Amino acid sequence: MNKELQEIARNLLTEKTVDVIIGYEKGYDDLHGRPVFIDSPEDVDKLIINKYCTNNLAVYLPIHRKIKIGIVAKVCDLKSIRELIKEHQIPKENVVIIDIVCEGVVRKGDIEQIDERCVGCDDKYQGTKAQRHKGTKAVEDFEKLSSKEKGNFWDREFERCLRCYACRQACPVCYCPDCFAQRNMPEYLNAKVSTEENKKFQMVRMQHVFGRCTDCRACENACPVGIPLSLITMKIAKDAFELFGYVSGIDEETRPPLSSFLKDEVLEEIM
Ligand code: SF4
Ligand code: SF4
Ligand code: SF4
Repeated sequence: MNKELQEIARNLLTEKTVDVIIGYEKGYDDLHGRPVFIDSPEDVDKLIINKYCTNNLAVYLPIHRKIKIGIVAKVCDLKSIRELIKEHQIPKENVVIIDIVCEGVVRKGDIEQIDERCVGCDDKYQGTKAQRHKGTKAVEDFEKLSSKEKGNFWDREFERCLRCYACRQACPVCYCPDCFAQRNMPEYLNAKVSTEENKKFQMVRMQHVFGRCTDCRACENACPVGIPLSLITMKIAKDAFELFGYVSGIDEETRPPLSSFLKDEVLEEIM
């Protein structure tokens, strides 16, 4: 698959269809791929694709929106690209998607086994159907806990959060140049790292990505202290589907629920 990918990239650059290719190259060993930017046909042999290429490359698109980009896209990336197009963060005409057949990736912490949620991904070959929004066993088990148990669980998890913001930085739909977490007029978050402030950060971030998050797991993969953020992203994907019938990233047209509600719709709910 690498040779085929390199050939596509070579043609795109040689014919000047794109200015740069965003893809993956070998990382510091064979078990790690890492993002790479290639702007010369001579360098395309660096491109690889395998189960260790985990990053969601769509995260780079908003900041490079003014140039023509060829992007290697797994299904997770493809869904994020669709959300970014909908949100006018990237002009569709500036993106050439190099859609690869994804057979699943190995996430951090388990260097051999394909992520079990990848195994259950119906999108692998079509890029059109999604299933995870219907819920997973992990989410169903979590939903059975009492409020107190849920609170205790997240207290234990966010106790070790460093507030490094790697989760936000790795997230394709967290592209705000002026994130609430850094504002000081007014100050939403105390700079001091504490369980309460850590939880507040992630709670607000998850509200902001509700209905836009594609459950790609890039945030969880970036977290240096192993906080199971995908438990939240799977839950909000399920809620978005059950409450609004919405599945993120399934197309380039349908507006996310929180950006398409009608005034009357809200009033009706309140009354
Ligand atoms: S990546 Fe992990 S440690 Fe860093 S802010 Fe996010 S949840 Fe906290
Ligand atoms: S799973 Fe995490 S990184 Fe991916 S879109 Fe959702 S919040 Fe962002
Ligand atoms: S957490 Fe909210 S404000 Fe910050 S980058 Fe993400 S969406 Fe924007």
